[in-house]
Amino acid sequence: MTLRSSVPLSRATLTDGQHRAVLEGGREGEGRVLRGLWGVDFEAAVGTRHVEVDVVGRCGDDHPASWRFRVAPGNFLQQKLSVNPAYVEPPESEKERIARDREKVAAVWAAVPTTRVWDRAFVMPVEATPSGNFGARRVFNGKTQSRHAGADLVAAEGTPIKAPAPGTVRLAEDLYFSGGTVILDHGGDLFTTYFHMSRIDVKPGDRVRTGDVLGAVGATGRVTGPHLHWGARLNGARVNPLALLKLPPWPSTETRTD
Ligand SMILES: [Zn+2]
Repeated sequence: MTLRSSVPLSRATLTDGQHRAVLEGGREGEGRVLRGLWGVDFEAAVGTRHVEVDVVGRCGDDHPASWRFRVAPGNFLQQKLSVNPAYVEPPESEKERIARDREKVAAVWAAVPTTRVWDRAFVMPVEATPSGNFGARRVFNGKTQSRHAGADLVAAEGTPIKAPAPGTVRLAEDLYFSGGTVILDHGGDLFTTYFHMSRIDVKPGDRVRTGDVLGAVGATGRVTGPHLHWGARLNGARVNPLALLKLPPWPSTETRTD
């Protein structure tokens, strides 16, 4: 989202009651151009949205405003998949573990957002052609229905997975459904996730730079074959990680337009 003003601003904040995003000024534009990201979940209802914008001027003066946009319907694939039945109807003995897994991931999402540490477009974590299945409506073994909250990148088992941008590792362990799992925190309430890994080379708290190896592609958890399931979460919304490959440099270098 880009906010343009005829007078210099110090910052602006977007909120929808649940989540918050900060808009920042670029190197150019002298505070007249602020920019930030706002995620819309792929399962969000179609329709008009209102986001409150708190604009703060150079003298600390507050200017409440609102941003209205429309969520358009997505165009998602349908997929029928066959997997090990233990991943469609997990055995009783695994239920406690599955509940614990969920709590660990929920704790990562619940933490207070940290400062943004990325400043340019993300790169691909593995060299692969994306399957185009972000948001796909799926039926497993003819029964369980679910939506696919990531982009699958098919690559051979053992292919190194590289950090697509700087970040801090918040979770690095084997989980029941997602197998070998890593969650990276890029700051500014933006996370990326890596599932089904055969090997994990990082641990929670590690800081990684773009290109650092997180581990390797595998076929652990609920899968039909080796691949990297790559996910992204922005302001609590599950968004297509492939969109991160197109981010302009940050802070914005765009010139003033007024
Ligand atoms: Zn996947």
